Amino acid sequence: MINFQQVSKTYPGGHRALEKVNFHIKPGELAFLTGHSGAGKSTLLKLISLMERPSAGNVFINGVDLNKVNSRQIPYARRDIGIIFQNHRLLERYTVFDNVALPLIIEGTHHKQIAKRVHGALDKVGLIDKIKCHPSMLSGGEQQRVGIARAIVNSPPILLADEPTGNLDPELSMEILKLFEDFNKHGTTVLIATHDLGLVARMKYRSLTLKDGRMLEDPLAEGAL
Ligand code: ADP
Ligand code: ADP
Repeated sequence: MINFQQVSKTYPGGHRALEKVNFHIKPGELAFLTGHSGAGKSTLLKLISLMERPSAGNVFINGVDLNKVNSRQIPYARRDIGIIFQNHRLLERYTVFDNVALPLIIEGTHHKQIAKRVHGALDKVGLIDKIKCHPSMLSGGEQQRVGIARAIVNSPPILLADEPTGNLDPELSMEILKLFEDFNKHGTTVLIATHDLGLVARMKYRSLTLKDGRMLEDPLAEGAL
């Protein structure tokens, strides 16, 4: 589902953020991506979501080599991927409904379908009663759940999260992780970048670790067992 082969990324200015990274995440897997700040976690997620391009190597998503996706095709390729950010990036001027509807509006979905899917997504994260609120009226945990609803509203097969619990207390963090677990049980492939090792330790999932742009030995890598 997500396959990195000898992927390196050097940013303009010469900083090498990723160095010959190899790993494979199978369909339906849930995995953590850990490492200190600056290790390259965000960069790795940005390569999957086509927000950045590799300097060398290949990223395959669902068998598609992203090096062969041109800039015009990026919006289509991104439909397979839902992304959740730490600071959720909600639009303050808009209601919860509109924020969650945004990806569907961009895709040109029919308005009846939009209403149905937004309700479905908000139901999954338990926020139907906040549908008319503006983000500032919600708690941090609720805002993060709106961000999650927006990421899953078009039912993407892959869900990426970049420090999704960064601003939340441990209890809310577990709640958010349970949501990811729930999506995963329904077949979504999930990759969660976090530096919160306590959180990772409490869940029994594969954990990929980056250190200074290199992937440390992965006990579940193919051939390692
Ligand atoms: P993490 O998410 O693990 O904190 P990042 O992927 O954000 O790590 O960053 C990895 C390294 O790449 C860091 O040293 C960071 O300063 C550098 N970096 C990230 N984005 C850019 C950029 N747009 N331009 C230059 N350097 C960057
Ligand atoms: P899965 O979805 O089973 O986890 P991937 O999406 O990682 O698998 O890869 C599926 C397909 O991607 C492979 O069957 C192949 O067609 C293509 N692929 C993966 N690696 C390579 C490679 N090195 N060269 C060419 N194609 C590749």
